[in-house]
Amino acid sequence: MLFDIDGTLVTGPGNGPSAGVRAMGESSRAVTGVGELHTRVEFAGRTDLQIARDLLTQAGNPSPSPADVQKLIDQYVTLLERWVQTRRYRTIGNVREGVIALRVAGATVGLGTGNVKRGAEAKLRSAGLDDLFDLELGGYGDDGDSREELLRIGARRCDPTGALPVIVVGDTPHDVRAARAIGAGCIAVHTGSYDARALADCGADVVLPCIEPSIVSVVRAMLMLR
Ligand SMILES: [Mg+2]
Repeated sequence: MLFDIDGTLVTGPGNGPSAGVRAMGESSRAVTGVGELHTRVEFAGRTDLQIARDLLTQAGNPSPSPADVQKLIDQYVTLLERWVQTRRYRTIGNVREGVIALRVAGATVGLGTGNVKRGAEAKLRSAGLDDLFDLELGGYGDDGDSREELLRIGARRCDPTGALPVIVVGDTPHDVRAARAIGAGCIAVHTGSYDARALADCGADVVLPCIEPSIVSVVRAMLMLR
């Protein structure tokens, strides 16, 4: 099972932009000299590299080079690690109990997130969830250019044989479509920026209000239908 992070496992403090959005805004201003770029770019469900490229494009660089993007990402991670000290992420629903219940039931639990690995680690640590995931079992924003690619890599890290069924848990149509593209099942949670209807319409197998231990029976039912 591959879990998305933002809007699925954790959320920002609720009073203004999250540490991640702030860090992207500040790093793009530092690199390009243009402020408030983060208000012009879509964040939810997109990978850090895709966001960074959009920020640079909005600042007037129509085709940012990989080096330009990496420079922004490096700045971003440094600022994120600073911002999470004061603007901690919070867990959503009963994430801890849900993940533990899945593991007890026999699932391999990993991450499938658009965050670069260092960013993922900073966010999970600030929410007190860093002990819950083995970061080696996951696909990250720095693993591939698309969500589909990072999910494929994350699935392989969890199951090198490629024989086990994969279920993606996420909060946006990007998660759902990428799950579909790699032949995985998808549980969507409407705890982020999309409502239940939008997530069902784009093809989620199941839409849940949040992650809690009852997710185990949902997964069992999905596996029986496959
Ligand atoms: Mg998300």
